[in-house]
Amino acid sequence: MAMKQLLIGNNSRTIRSNNLQAILLALLHHKHISRIRLAELTSLSTTTITNLITELLKQGIVAEEGTNAIKQRSGAGRPRMSLRLVPESRYAIGVHIGVGSVKVAVTDLRANILTSLSLSHPLDRSAVDVLAEIAQLVQQAITQLNIDPQNIIGVGVGASGLVNPDTGVNLIAPNLGWRDVAIKRVLSEHLTLPICVDNNVRAMALGESLFGSVPDVRLLAFVYVRIGVGAGFVIDGQLYRGSGAGAGEIGHTTMMPDNGERCHCGNTGCLETLISEPAIMKLAHVLAKQDEHGLLANHFRQVERPTIEQVFAAARDGDVPTQNMLAERARYMGVALSNLINIFNPELIVFGGIFSQGYNLLLPTVEATIRQRTFADLGQRVKFQPTYHKKNSGMVGSAALALTTFFYQPAINLT
Ligand SMILES: [Zn+2]
Repeated sequence: MAMKQLLIGNNSRTIRSNNLQAILLALLHHKHISRIRLAELTSLSTTTITNLITELLKQGIVAEEGTNAIKQRSGAGRPRMSLRLVPESRYAIGVHIGVGSVKVAVTDLRANILTSLSLSHPLDRSAVDVLAEIAQLVQQAITQLNIDPQNIIGVGVGASGLVNPDTGVNLIAPNLGWRDVAIKRVLSEHLTLPICVDNNVRAMALGESLFGSVPDVRLLAFVYVRIGVGAGFVIDGQLYRGSGAGAGEIGHTTMMPDNGERCHCGNTGCLETLISEPAIMKLAHVLAKQDEHGLLANHFRQVERPTIEQVFAAARDGDVPTQNMLAERARYMGVALSNLINIFNPELIVFGGIFSQGYNLLLPTVEATIRQRTFADLGQRVKFQPTYHKKNSGMVGSAALALTTFFYQPAINLT
């Protein structure tokens, strides 16, 4: 099982940090845990457990509970105490860079959001200016919470487009118009905290896997549809990035080899041109014009700027043309996911963005298409669920990046 693999430690002094990672992950996955249970789960000796826990207690990262009550009942002898992670002992910062909008959150060690701020930026603003604004927002969030910067483990940035996590460079983000933007370097000029950068949907997949309601699965695929369309994979608890950190670009798989619409990436007929929020809104506006007294047009008239919510509302109210249009979009998603399932064979697909907002409307067609089109029984066995973190998935995901890079990982330095 994925979790067990991660939890196995070793008693050798040379890989003490791996042992620490195993303990921290066990503490993350259990609300309360005894030293004995920790030893069982990590296969570490009780001496190793005791030494590391003593250190974690000293640092305030772990707390002991139930001491008095259990002591009295158990009478003489060593009292049985349970340990728990102290989530608010350290903080992480998550920066979600979407298309035209940025969200910043400060979270605890369980990725609970303690405060969040956001900004929108015109797409013609330079990346360097946007990053300077992001750094300001991070500072503002820290000041707002009044926390000791010493207790911040680092900043995780999830950005739209193709990102090299080793260099922290955004190689290309077609929807933002960014190319070769050194996100990590530019942010480092403004912030003194450790910074890690990855693709935003990949970050969401990690957040969903570690801090969501995902069961213990070997291969999770997270699919996100908003202005862009992307996917992230978590295999045995680890992010799968591919050889050039490009894994998951499902939005640019070719659905229409001929006569497809032009995509922001420069190609034509990509999945993104068929199922993104702007693509669906464009079709919805055509439908609303065709029937000016219809349900969809009515919903559109009730707001200044119609969004996908009005489209879903019309479909929920029984507007057949809207329902058909959405079913057609869901079918394209089903075809794309059938291809993904045939290649990756995931156990679970989690939907974020508009496919989570309109989950009940869209999933039946997505699922029927998958059951019909996948090879053998691969499509019968795959499970589906909407995102746990909903609109916060970008912030939780980028905080999860920081937490896994700077805290729940082998090289953690406690001193
Ligand atoms: Zn494309």
